[in-house]
Amino acid sequence: MRPFFLLSCPVRSKINGLRGFAWLALSALVCVLLARAELVQLQAAFETDARISHRLLSQRAVQHEAVLATLALLQPAALPGEPEPAAQRLSSVYPQILSVQRRAPTNPWPSASLQVAEQASGQTRAAVLANPDFTLDRGRYQLVLAAQPASYALLIDVHHTVPWSEWPMPVQTSPVRVTLEIAKGAAFVVQPGRLGDTGWRYEFRKHLASVSQPFELVAVRQVGWGELPWSVMALWTLGVAGMMAAWSAWQNQRNARRRAEELLRVGQVARLNTLGELAAGMAHELNQPLTAILANTHAAKRLLADDPMDLPTVQQAMAQAVAQARRAADVLGRLRRTVERPQAAPISETVDLEQAVSNALDLLQPECKRLAVTTALLVARPAWVIAERVALEQIVHNLITNALQALQQVPEGARQLTLHIEHGDGVGVLRVVDTGPGITPDTLPHLFEPFFSTRDGGLGLGLSLCETLATGMGGQLRANAQTERGAEFVLTLPLASHP
Ligand code: ADP
Repeated sequence: MRPFFLLSCPVRSKINGLRGFAWLALSALVCVLLARAELVQLQAAFETDARISHRLLSQRAVQHEAVLATLALLQPAALPGEPEPAAQRLSSVYPQILSVQRRAPTNPWPSASLQVAEQASGQTRAAVLANPDFTLDRGRYQLVLAAQPASYALLIDVHHTVPWSEWPMPVQTSPVRVTLEIAKGAAFVVQPGRLGDTGWRYEFRKHLASVSQPFELVAVRQVGWGELPWSVMALWTLGVAGMMAAWSAWQNQRNARRRAEELLRVGQVARLNTLGELAAGMAHELNQPLTAILANTHAAKRLLADDPMDLPTVQQAMAQAVAQARRAADVLGRLRRTVERPQAAPISETVDLEQAVSNALDLLQPECKRLAVTTALLVARPAWVIAERVALEQIVHNLITNALQALQQVPEGARQLTLHIEHGDGVGVLRVVDTGPGITPDTLPHLFEPFFSTRDGGLGLGLSLCETLATGMGGQLRANAQTERGAEFVLTLPLASHP
């Protein structure tokens, strides 16, 4: 089972890609929000300045009307055509009023436009604009009020109208352009400003709050890309990257810790499994020799009590017991080596296949006799194989034991076990053929699975152990379901070049 957090390389790089994308998206979102907040702030500041400018200029325009009305109301009897001395001093109080003209009823205005303006003023009873001159940086106009006995006209300079001391923006450096438009194309530039071509444009338009001087105040502000808070945005981007890197490092650390814990757990489980398998293998491999030793020593004990005593048979039984005990010791020694040095290569040597088979057959001869099984060893061609002697004998022993167990299911006269030694393609071959009930097609695919058994009390480990041992020596073990009757197991092992 693969722990869920042991990620493969493609999955890991996909996650890194997603992190990069998340960082980009988050940074972009933060930058957009910052830029938006800055733009909203700049627009609010611009509109505030524009409204203050509008209010200041409107106050001045209304002031001009008030001055005219006051002059008309308080006019003294003066020489016809001569403005009275007080009016002459107005310019010192109101620098935008360049001159004051007064027309006595008998005198005409110096220009026809003043005449027209006075007539209009007479009808509306309010001051009327005359001779506006908003060319280049000149901004002048006249304001005429019809009154009795004399009418008045003020010549006003727009530049001096602006109350610079109260002006909300630094006139030379402010980026806001402020103009007073009298008509389309005729405008006086109050403040030049700086207008670019790109970015965001804010505009404020409003007529002055004066009926006689309805100039339109136009304020324009162009916010360029350069005015966005780049340094703050860069800091945020770095901050987001830092936060994500910290988060990612924390996650990696957590994953590494979990991986280590999981590996430890898997290692422990694997160790337990190995120990379990080992115990089961030992039980399987030692069961048979121990049973044989017990049977032989029991037989010897019984024979020793006989009168007369059959000494040769007693000796034979004891020899069998010794051989089985040696085999058990060999198997245990091999298992010990495997446990102590699991990585160590098996001790391979050149083994005579016939000799190994004879040894195993000899050990099991009494059993064969007891079960009335006829055995035959047919050597088509002697074969020396590269193998671990004990492991090879274990395999042969298991195959013969299985065959004997299978043969018990058929009548005594039909119990036959034949072992063939041949050569294959670069391999030595041992075929173990019995005339037992054979293997059904259902069981054939499962024979080498651990713990698969059809026998009562069978552990189901013999064949799986044999296959492991055979492949460990570079060989193979397979089963054939005989077509006529019985089963056939074929063991192949690499041939040694020299005997
Ligand atoms: P066990 O002998 O403990 O059952 P094995 O792994 O040695 O375990 O054998 C697995 C199964 O393979 C046996 O239960 C049996 O069904 C089948 N088998 C093995 N050898 C033979 C044989 N010679 N003839 C028929 N069936 C066999």
